Amino acid sequence: MSQELQEKRIMQSIRQYQIPLQQYMALMDLEERNERLFYKLLIDHVEELLPVVYTPTVGEACQKYGSIFRRPQGLYISLKERGKILEVLKNWHEKSIQVIVVTDGQRILGLGDLGCQGMGIPVGKLALYTALGGVRPSACLPITIDVGTNNEELLKDEFYIGLRQKRVVGQEYKDFLHEFMTAVKQNYGEKVLIQFEDFANHNAFDLLARYRSTHLVFNDDIQGTAAVVLAGVVAALKLVDGTLPEHTFLFFGAGEAGTGIAELIAFEISKQANAPLEEARKKIWLVDSKGLIVNSRMDSLQSFKKPWAHEHEPVKNLVDAIKALKPTVLIGSAGIGQTFTQEVIESMASINEKPVILALSNPTTQSECTAEQAYTWSKGHAIFASGSPFDPVEYNGKVYVPGQANNAYIFPGFGLGLVISGAIRVHDEMLLAAAEALAQQVTQENYDKGLIYPPFSNIREISAHIASNVAAKAYELGLATQLPRPKDLVKYAKSCMYSPVYRSYR
Ligand code: NAP
Ligand code: MN
Repeated sequence: MSQELQEKRIMQSIRQYQIPLQQYMALMDLEERNERLFYKLLIDHVEELLPVVYTPTVGEACQKYGSIFRRPQGLYISLKERGKILEVLKNWHEKSIQVIVVTDGQRILGLGDLGCQGMGIPVGKLALYTALGGVRPSACLPITIDVGTNNEELLKDEFYIGLRQKRVVGQEYKDFLHEFMTAVKQNYGEKVLIQFEDFANHNAFDLLARYRSTHLVFNDDIQGTAAVVLAGVVAALKLVDGTLPEHTFLFFGAGEAGTGIAELIAFEISKQANAPLEEARKKIWLVDSKGLIVNSRMDSLQSFKKPWAHEHEPVKNLVDAIKALKPTVLIGSAGIGQTFTQEVIESMASINEKPVILALSNPTTQSECTAEQAYTWSKGHAIFASGSPFDPVEYNGKVYVPGQANNAYIFPGFGLGLVISGAIRVHDEMLLAAAEALAQQVTQENYDKGLIYPPFSNIREISAHIASNVAAKAYELGLATQLPRPKDLVKYAKSCMYSPVYRSYR
């Protein structure tokens, strides 16, 4: 039987499930039974299946992970393994690992602390590394660090798969993570990519700062999201007036995603305007749970927020902040649904001819607003994209296609670029290179539909271009070890990509 026929059969059966979680389980079973067929399906039907293996369905899968559990799909490293992490790594059945995605489950999507059940995220992310970025499945290792959970419901749940204890914090946490980071480098060497995923923000910033100069680390929530959003904003400049330095940005949510994006946009503004970073930051404002981040709050701010405390009187809510600051771009990353109310969208639309509105929070339930709300309330004027997918919307006889501002555009190609160049460190310039490559992939046809991201159907081509730009930057910065540098990096990236087609023995 040909792979095509198998593919057709499985797709037909998957489409018969009404419940997305059942589709998820069927796909995970397929991955275990026939890995190549799983990836063939995912690659050929990426737009249809991405919402199943990734946001939003993966969120529900994590919430119910204990009750749908079949088999450990990745490596769990719990506090019980303290002192033995290296041994645990050596137990994994694959020896040659290129990409690790690791979480401790404390901030899974916008769903909070799911403890060990966060494993669905590293598993899903790595499936995308293979399907969208072409990294071999055997070279991908999903890891969940189990330091307990503060989720009372899970601690009481008989199906919960992790340690039944409160999270360890402070030095004990730091030491455990340090043992992990040391063991990974010892076991896999300098060139293994460690992607931090869905850590709570204080740990995320801390881990990134601590290991960025000694390991090949990348935080997708901070850096990947930043590159995706910068790409979308740069692409949006084809649809709205003004250069990047002329725009004013307002963020709702000042955590990993918000401040990560803000920092990369400021970096790009400072380059374009030939201005100091501090000056560039002044074009960017953030709102957190206590209101607008302003100078008078400086003493009580977490350190990653301090660079964003500008001179302004205190402002409590989002609508007042919009009225006071007149932003051209509004970015939601607070992880709370329905916060871009009618008043918020109307305020943006009353100030701007074409307001750029990005509702990044995942999964769909946490989205700041729906695509329909964004288009209706702005009377069709918004340039809108969201973290989780929405269907096209018809408004006043015109069809509006919302783009998906999701880091799935960047991390697979970004990782591939690091792998093929043998990069040993991640540099912010590489993030800019990735954002630039993504923005360049938006075609006139996409713009005509109001899109600021290319469709996912073309993602392997997009990933190859991102990989090539990232690798080129790694060579330029002297961070690449794969020598000599291939002449045509796009072609080389494509030639390195995993193909799920069955081997022919004839
Ligand atoms: P995070 O680090 O926990 O940050 C959340 C931020 O939202 C914090 O600054 C928090 O304020 C703020 N916040 C919470 N409640 C608020 C309220 N009522 N009003 C105003 N601000 C409020 O989380 P994160 O990593 O940035 O992720 C946030 C969301 O973005 C999640 O839903 C995640 O799924 C999504 N995300 C999407 C993508 C994508 O590709 N589309 C990528 C990454 C993340 P305080 O600091 O005052 O607590
Ligand atoms: Mn994430």
